[in-house]
Amino acid sequence: MTQPVTERSLRSAEDLDRLIGRISGKGYKAYEDLRGGYDFGDFLLFLERIQGDPFASPSRARVSVPAEVASFEPALWRNQARLLALEDFLARAFSRAIRSEIRERRGMGSSGLIAIDAGGQEVLKRTALEIHDGCVEARFAVGLPAFGRRIDGEGAREMLLRALPALVRRSLVAKSLDLGALAGHVRAIEDQQALRGALAGLGLVAFIADGSLLPRQSGVDPRPLKSADAVPFKSPPELAVKIPAPNGGEVSGMGIPRGITLIVGGGFHGKSTLLSALALGIYDHIPGDGRERVVSNPATVKIRAEDGRRVEKVDISPFIDGLPLGRPTRAFSTDNASGSTSQAANIMEALEAGAEVLLVDEDTSATNFMIRDARMQALIPKSCEPITPFVDRVVELKEDLGVSTILVMGGSGDYLEVADQVIAMVEYEPRVLTNRARTIVAEIPTRRQRERPGRPLREAALRGRRPHPSSFDARRGRREVKISVKGLHTILYGTTAIELEGLEQLVDPSQTRAIGALIHALGERCSGQSASDLRELLGAVFEEIGRKGLRAVCGGLQDLAMPRLLEVGAAINRMRTLKVALEKK
Ligand code: ADP
Ligand code: MG
Repeated sequence: MTQPVTERSLRSAEDLDRLIGRISGKGYKAYEDLRGGYDFGDFLLFLERIQGDPFASPSRARVSVPAEVASFEPALWRNQARLLALEDFLARAFSRAIRSEIRERRGMGSSGLIAIDAGGQEVLKRTALEIHDGCVEARFAVGLPAFGRRIDGEGAREMLLRALPALVRRSLVAKSLDLGALAGHVRAIEDQQALRGALAGLGLVAFIADGSLLPRQSGVDPRPLKSADAVPFKSPPELAVKIPAPNGGEVSGMGIPRGITLIVGGGFHGKSTLLSALALGIYDHIPGDGRERVVSNPATVKIRAEDGRRVEKVDISPFIDGLPLGRPTRAFSTDNASGSTSQAANIMEALEAGAEVLLVDEDTSATNFMIRDARMQALIPKSCEPITPFVDRVVELKEDLGVSTILVMGGSGDYLEVADQVIAMVEYEPRVLTNRARTIVAEIPTRRQRERPGRPLREAALRGRRPHPSSFDARRGRREVKISVKGLHTILYGTTAIELEGLEQLVDPSQTRAIGALIHALGERCSGQSASDLRELLGAVFEEIGRKGLRAVCGGLQDLAMPRLLEVGAAINRMRTLKVALEKK
């Protein structure tokens, strides 16, 4: 392969101008001559990968602006939260600058394109923009201009020698930016992380600041609902807390305590919207999102039914035991899970990977997994029903594993018995109905029997599963390793597709790309003799990311954004090629 492009052997901007003159009008392949680094005086440009033709995926470039030139106050990057915020702000500024500098695109394929991976509503650590000791590095795609399959020299000059320097100088240098907006961005991200960090100490699993705006534009548009009808969040007095934030002073809002929280209320009153906001409270949000002060425990996992998924030797016996034909459920495998078995597997896998809070919505759950009322218990005896419903395990989850659950359930009162707090959504406003619920439980008995046979959750969740190296075959065609991504929810790993539709907390295709690469990194680690279980392997990969950074562990020139360990584990569990050996127990 070709050598990486580095600081050594830099040429000048004038050299680039001459080189373009020399290849102008030639066949597209001659662009390869431009590969290399150029010193523009105030920044460096590296053309790292050159596309083979105008229709191939665009070329990859990087610019590096020295700290003295970028000149951001060290206060803006003095801690990890601030650094993340500054990086995020610059990526977005670069992206905006592209829109104003690139006037029109002419030519074929990707001719004239410049694109940076700047992200959406969430603020994620990403490889598109990194700052090291004040030096700014941006990585982006460029489509080298062509007429037909000939090099458009004028287009290349306009792009590389005019537009690109203009947008670097306009978006990556302190003096050209709106420093007020930048400071606000940094303060907002720092506050979100402080709020999230304060949760555990206060005995909370989530916090929603008063004034937050939870509803979204639409089911496919994650921007805030901009409408006079949008009701801002207001905490009920019983759950109101104030959390100090480093920049925003005391932030008041609703704290959701550890334990079992039931969200009830009529249809269309905002229950699922609230739960979705909590699911994404694991991420920081950009100011103006409406959820920038909605935070949840970082190990919060949204659980749903996901029929059709594959499951590999998961112990679902706490929930499902005694299947027809004596199918074992202590090491349950299937290529086509049902609603209830998939939901049970999702829970057991999340626990295995370290989930601390589960979010469950009736809208996306299997009914028979969630409830089994007194009449059905009378009609079908437990001996003929493999399922122990979630309602009979949720207390054990809390008491034996310390795992909290937040559950949306407007359709059945069976959970009133087990809930530590009951929050009703009434016209998008939360009210605490815990005491009322207790009275009702006393006055209207359900007559249902508590069911709790089978294996304790704790034992089942802690059973180690050791992935077999053959699970991770990334070969495709003549390539030893070929991993690609289609949109947010599909990874093509070698020749197998990994479907991630069920992972509602995945928000950015660059996370999906990172997950693909990290599966490979994990696969390489499990080829040795010292067989580690999945939990240990995931821990080792993330420890390495902590030391070396995401880009070093994943390799390549692709855009990546930080996923959670939980989503990487979830993706591996959905591989149709996964084979594990169980620890003896
Ligand atoms: P539920 O789960 O209780 O049936 P949803 O959360 O799905 O209700 O919300 C129903 C509708 O109300 C959705 O279209 C949602 O966007 C909208 N909505 C949710 N919260 C608010 C709010 N605070 N203000 C205005 N509209 C809201
Ligand atoms: Mg709903």
